[in-house]
Amino acid sequence: MRRFSFIGVKVTHRDLIKTVESELDQMVELLRQLVEMESPSTEKQAVDRLGHFLADHIRQCGLEPRFEQRSTVGDIIWAEWEGSSPERILVLCHIDTVWELSSLQRNPFRIENGRLYGPGIFDMKSGVAATMKIQEYLNRSLLRPRKKIRFLYTTDEEIGSNESRALIEEFARQSQMVLLTEPPLAGGVLKTFRKGVADFTLKIRGRAAHAGLEPEKGLNALEELARQIVRIQALSNPELGTTVNVTKAHGGTRENVIPEYAEATVDARFRTLEEASRIEGDMRKLSPHIPGVQLEVLGGVNRPPMLRTHRTEELFAQARLIAAEMGIDLREGGTGGGSDGSFTAALGIPTLDGLGVNGGGAHAVDEHIELAALSERVALLARLVERL
Ligand SMILES: [Zn+2]
Repeated sequence: MRRFSFIGVKVTHRDLIKTVESELDQMVELLRQLVEMESPSTEKQAVDRLGHFLADHIRQCGLEPRFEQRSTVGDIIWAEWEGSSPERILVLCHIDTVWELSSLQRNPFRIENGRLYGPGIFDMKSGVAATMKIQEYLNRSLLRPRKKIRFLYTTDEEIGSNESRALIEEFARQSQMVLLTEPPLAGGVLKTFRKGVADFTLKIRGRAAHAGLEPEKGLNALEELARQIVRIQALSNPELGTTVNVTKAHGGTRENVIPEYAEATVDARFRTLEEASRIEGDMRKLSPHIPGVQLEVLGGVNRPPMLRTHRTEELFAQARLIAAEMGIDLREGGTGGGSDGSFTAALGIPTLDGLGVNGGGAHAVDEHIELAALSERVALLARLVERL
């Protein structure tokens, strides 16, 4: 077995990439297994099955898998590699996907034209596979980080992280930095800031009446909804990067009845906390256009914006240097999509997100990763874990 160490034997980054590359087939096989264990956030049994697979792997790597039981979503799993320093890096992943069971039938795991396809492969089973390889390298002493490395695998990221948020925040507070192997931006660009997300449900209660006999006795909840939709869409502020969109609506019962009820869901994204509270305030202040109609607004901010703090800036600069030594030009950017990195960054813990494998089509049928990027990204993650 080859050993890499910075004390004594000088080890080149190229050697590490070569080792990773020589095991590419194994990694593709591991990815196939992960993808074929479907794990929609809402299917506890299925997610737990994947969790046990992961736990077995962790055990084989000489670490002890810990389970945090959950009743409505899959059990959360974590493990820690003991470094010599009291400092800690938190490596954060989610093993749930947005894909329903049997999505594989339409969208099987496959390799086509240098791309690997399959439900959840980009978001974020390839990122999970990368962390599993890191555990192997630690066990084989290919990596010898100074810091403790804590791997945390949550199970409800795609449905808002209600069951994992407290644990994520607790672990982040015990860490000096957080690395997420979520999908990167196009070309492998890291995410150092993210918009925050708020979700609302608007419920509208009018009054039913016969549409032909006495429509004037009704209060048309759908008409009210139509007017509210226009108001709500106008809460957007593109200049500040705030988007507000009505994403789902329904109402009414029969063709000849004035609808007494209608409701809509609203998705809002913002870069700053000021915009978050403006949107929340404006949503709560919505008043009915039609006298007598009742409005109810539920929901609020789900994830705060992931701010690019000074400490995150410094962490990225360090990561960029390490990548440059490997011949990788690491870049950073931002996105409108939320992630659990938003929680850790909001606590002031420097957070690098998007360390997963280059690809595209998150949450879409052409979801894929680039085979050519796989080795380099795993090697990069390995080096970051060791050197940061
Ligand atoms: Zn994700």
